[in-house]
Amino acid sequence: MSGKNLPRFIMCFCTGECPGFAKLELWKLINFVRNELDVEYAIVHPQLCVDDGDRFLKEYLRDGETNIIYIIGGCDPRMQKKMFKDVFKEKGLDMDKQLIPLDLRNMSTEEAMKRVQEAVEQVLKK
Ligand code: SF4
Repeated sequence: MSGKNLPRFIMCFCTGECPGFAKLELWKLINFVRNELDVEYAIVHPQLCVDDGDRFLKEYLRDGETNIIYIIGGCDPRMQKKMFKDVFKEKGLDMDKQLIPLDLRNMSTEEAMKRVQEAVEQVLKK
């Protein structure tokens, strides 16, 4: 893995109340990702698409750091792109290359693990 940045995984858990994540065991998923997959780290945010989520992304994403891939587990990828495009642009990041939005709704924990694993493997293959 020398010289290659590992992807960073953010799980957006939709307040913890969303029926779409009712089957997902959040901590089982996060611990699997951080312990078993080649990621820099894995974190959870309760709701990235509202004001405090926006403030978080503005602090978290680093200006011009164009070599990092962010995998965000959450809702519909098109929705995620719509909601996060401004902050990626503001930070000088290329959302099309640096964001991998995963729809993990209505999945079992095992299905979500597999989906994230595939995304991480896809990033590392490049
Ligand atoms: S970005 Fe999607 S998954 Fe995250 S809180 Fe908003 S609607 Fe829910």
